[in-house]
Amino acid sequence: MIFAETTEDYISAVESYLGDVHDVVVDYDPMGLDEFWIDERVITINDMRSSQEQLFVLLHEAGHVILRHRKDFHRICPDVGSSKVEVLKEEVLAWEEARRLASELQIPLDKQWDQHVRSAIRRYITWVKA
Ligand SMILES: [Zn+2]
Repeated sequence: MIFAETTEDYISAVESYLGDVHDVVVDYDPMGLDEFWIDERVITINDMRSSQEQLFVLLHEAGHVILRHRKDFHRICPDVGSSKVEVLKEEVLAWEEARRLASELQIPLDKQWDQHVRSAIRRYITWVKA
């Protein structure tokens, strides 16, 4: 267990988890989309934001990794390729997996996390209703 103290240490802890448990690497780029590329086993993170924002995004993408690597994922989010509601469901579940992973890695989450999650879900709700 890593007893991390700075945001950079927390990011490293998530990267180690992703590499060790899921064989997924993290790529930082100023043009990077915040996304998990499942076939390439790569998470791309836009590094133009604050390190705290990057940590939140990385945890969320790790949440997608955890969900997608579950054998029953297609039962959790059926028709995720064709249903906006299923996409929204995966997004909410990815935030919950992210929170669980943070707790496992002893990464403290504060009110800024709550706000970040809320606004991310709000954007998806707007997209679902469009
Ligand atoms: Zn997502």
